[in-house]
Amino acid sequence: MRKDPYDFRSKRKPRTIGIDATFIFIIICVMFALLLGRMGWFQLIKRDRNVAAFNDTMMRSRPIKAKRGSVLDRDGNVLAETVARVRVFVNTKQAVEAGTEVKAADVISDLFDIPKDEIVERIRSRKHRIEYFVKDADPEKAELLKKAARRGGLAQALDSKLKSGDPITGLGAETYSVRSYPNDSLASNIIGYVNSNGESIYGIEHKYELELCGNSGWESVGISGSRQIPGSKKVIKECLDGKNVYLTIDKRIQEIAEKAMLPTIETYKPESMCAIVMNPYTGEILALANYPTLNLNEFSGADPEKLRNGAVEFTYEPGSTLKTIVAASALEDGCVEPKEVVATCHKTATIGKHTIHCSVHHPYNNGPGPVDCYMTIDQSCNMGAMALGSRLGDKKLYKYLTDFGLVGKHYFGFGGEGYYPLEDPNKEPWAKIKLANVSFGQGISVTPLQMAAAYCVIANGGEYVRPQIIRGITADDKVPNFSVKEKRRVLSERTAKEVRDMLESCVENGTGKSAKIEGRTIGGKTGSAQASVNGRGYSGDYLISSFIGIAPAEKPELVIAVIVRRPQGNHYGAVVAAPILREIAEESLRYMKIPADKPEAEDTERKESI
Ligand SMILES: [Zn+2]
Repeated sequence: MRKDPYDFRSKRKPRTIGIDATFIFIIICVMFALLLGRMGWFQLIKRDRNVAAFNDTMMRSRPIKAKRGSVLDRDGNVLAETVARVRVFVNTKQAVEAGTEVKAADVISDLFDIPKDEIVERIRSRKHRIEYFVKDADPEKAELLKKAARRGGLAQALDSKLKSGDPITGLGAETYSVRSYPNDSLASNIIGYVNSNGESIYGIEHKYELELCGNSGWESVGISGSRQIPGSKKVIKECLDGKNVYLTIDKRIQEIAEKAMLPTIETYKPESMCAIVMNPYTGEILALANYPTLNLNEFSGADPEKLRNGAVEFTYEPGSTLKTIVAASALEDGCVEPKEVVATCHKTATIGKHTIHCSVHHPYNNGPGPVDCYMTIDQSCNMGAMALGSRLGDKKLYKYLTDFGLVGKHYFGFGGEGYYPLEDPNKEPWAKIKLANVSFGQGISVTPLQMAAAYCVIANGGEYVRPQIIRGITADDKVPNFSVKEKRRVLSERTAKEVRDMLESCVENGTGKSAKIEGRTIGGKTGSAQASVNGRGYSGDYLISSFIGIAPAEKPELVIAVIVRRPQGNHYGAVVAAPILREIAEESLRYMKIPADKPEAEDTERKESI
């Protein structure tokens, strides 16, 4: 039987179709089920993990930098502060690769008046990845520069109707913070500095780092692409700005002291020098000037040794300025009366194998003469000082020197305070020559600041008050109150007054005449000594000239100490150091509005006091 082709097809076709459709349907169902399962798995099981991953990529944590506190003077004048500045830069790699260096140079040159060729050359040299062209740009100009970078030129930035060109790749401006010292080198040896890496290197900046730096905080920010999602900022940890450190320094008196040193620097070219001005009643250091010094805004590449605070860190043999302390101690002890003759000066004296010289003085230039406490001070007689030391003896002298703050290490708020140990005679008695040497200021080393503090005892009526450089540290902008840290009686008021009279006599009639100021009573003592180098022997050409004084002598307001190391050409304290004291005293008393206290007629009254 022949099969009907049509019939065959009609019977085959539906069957074939039936099998394929079922198969495809099953496949689709399986796939659909799989898809549903997968979706369900994603939705129900992996959901939490996916959301977390999403958030992780979108949220960023970043530090909020604390603002460093300022360093200020006693009245709130800024000595060091952190300021925001704007700088203009070119990413040299990007600019060169995009070929935009000439366009970038055009914009910078037009806005900031820098030669275009120079800019192009610096970009093409690719010496630095980021090349800064302006470090303290006017913010409005910087905004214009950014607009010019976006719109392809300065003309397009200035005229919004102009069609934008291609952006100037690599050109930009950014805000950054910088430590600024508005007075350049003023008080720089006290302040120290913070370098471009944000590290505090020296001085108050370093010593009070923890107080000044504050604590950084953290914030979390949502990011989409490279942009912050508005309203997404969340502070995780609050940032705590640094505190402000107020010094006891008076900016004006500091300026006066630094200026007063200039003629001596010019004329005698010393190795180093310092001038200290103190309030004798509170121990506040009103000025502390050092030479050499540095401009704190240009410290990069400078010799950091120039920032050393010699007034606090370096010890020296005080020489004749110590005779005042020895005389005060002997008077207080009662082993001498002010006008009692204690020695006869023969210009030289012998102790064992040592010969002591006296740079003999008026009125005994031509022969031996009697010496009392006044003459010991105002003619700086070594024989008088030795006699006073001998009457006291080593143990009592050591005790008084300790009471005056001249023995051992003391802290005044700077950090790095120097000291040189003085042998304790209670452990081993001093040899005769040691006692003699100490009596006129050799064989003992102290810092200039220690000596200034010892003279404050005489100025304030007999109390030792510890010197301080910190007025207070606060978290707000209110000037803090100062508090005296240590105060104890060393001399009776009577002894202190007697010694002030001797210092006044020294300026009126003795070796300190060059510190005289018209209309003012000034007291002071000269010092000129060979210096011991690191405590080992004396060097003939290493001389230290000094002058320490009280102004006014009758009603003291200030103690001023001037110490000059290794002056060239002259080493007498009266010549090298006293004029600086006179200048500081005169200018400072005028600034403090202290009335004149000496009528002109009184000028020669004390001539007969020796
Ligand atoms: Zn003498």
